[in-house]
Amino acid sequence: MGRCVKNVFDRVDIAPSYDMGFVFSWRMNDDFVDSDPWTFVVQESETPKGPWKDISGKLVNTFFFSEKEPRVAPKDQTLYFRILLKTPAGKYESHVESPYCSLSRREFLLAREIMRKEILMQEKMAGVLSLVWYKSIFGPPCTKCGDFVLGDTVDSCCPHCFGTGKIPGYYGPFPAYVSYSPMDRRKGMQRPSGVDELYATPGRVIGSLRLKKDDVVVDPVSNTRFFVDAVQNLVEFRRYPVIQSVTLNEIAKTHIVYKLGAGEVCK
Ligand SMILES: [Zn+2]
Repeated sequence: MGRCVKNVFDRVDIAPSYDMGFVFSWRMNDDFVDSDPWTFVVQESETPKGPWKDISGKLVNTFFFSEKEPRVAPKDQTLYFRILLKTPAGKYESHVESPYCSLSRREFLLAREIMRKEILMQEKMAGVLSLVWYKSIFGPPCTKCGDFVLGDTVDSCCPHCFGTGKIPGYYGPFPAYVSYSPMDRRKGMQRPSGVDELYATPGRVIGSLRLKKDDVVVDPVSNTRFFVDAVQNLVEFRRYPVIQSVTLNEIAKTHIVYKLGAGEVCK
C-alpha cells in the first residue's frame, strides 16, 4: 500500500559477477532513521512499471544481495530492478534501475570479463579467499549505547553495534579474493603499549565488492583482521570499480571486531 514518501534510498548499485548473476548493494539517506528492523526485498521486472517478481528472500538489516545462480547477460530481454523496504514505520521503494546502471552493455560485459580474468589469476597466484564485513554508515541507530538525540556513539566497545552506533554495526561477511602483499609490509602504527606491532599492507580486490574506508577484511588463514584505509580503483568504468587497490591496516587482536562472526555477542 505505497505511502507516498520521499525516496529514502540514496543509491542502488548493480554489479556484474562472473560466476553468479548480479550483485546488488544499496545505501540509504543518512537522515533516514526508522527503527529496527529494516527488511528489504530485491525485485525484477521486464518493464519499468512491473509486474514485479521477488528475486531475493527477506533481507533483514542487510544492504547487499548476491544472486546465487548464473545469469546469462540479457540480449533481447530488458530487465529492471527495484528494492523494497519495510520498517516498523512504513514501506518504501527505490527508484527503478537497469542492470548495467550507468554502464553500456558492452562496458558491463568487458568489466565482467576483466573480473573473471582477475579471479582466475588470484586463484592461481597469491589470492586468498577472504571475508569482507561492510561497516554500516547508515541504519537503525543502536539503542544500547548511542545517544539518540545527538547521534553520537558513546561506547566504542559496544558489543551490540561494535562501536559504530548502527544496527548491525557491520554486515556480511562476503567472500572475496584478496591478494595481500606481504613483501611490501611496512610498519604501520605502534600501539602505545609497544606490545603489538601492527602492519599496513597493500591488497588487491575485485570491484564487485565496493570497499570503503573502515570496512573490515578478514584473512581466514591467520584470522588477521584489517581495517580498509585508502581505496584506489586500478581499473574502472565510469567510476564503477572493477579492480581495487586498498591499504589494509592490521587490527589489534583485542579489538571488538574480532568478535564479528562469532555469533551473538550481546544479550
Ligand atoms: Zn552500541
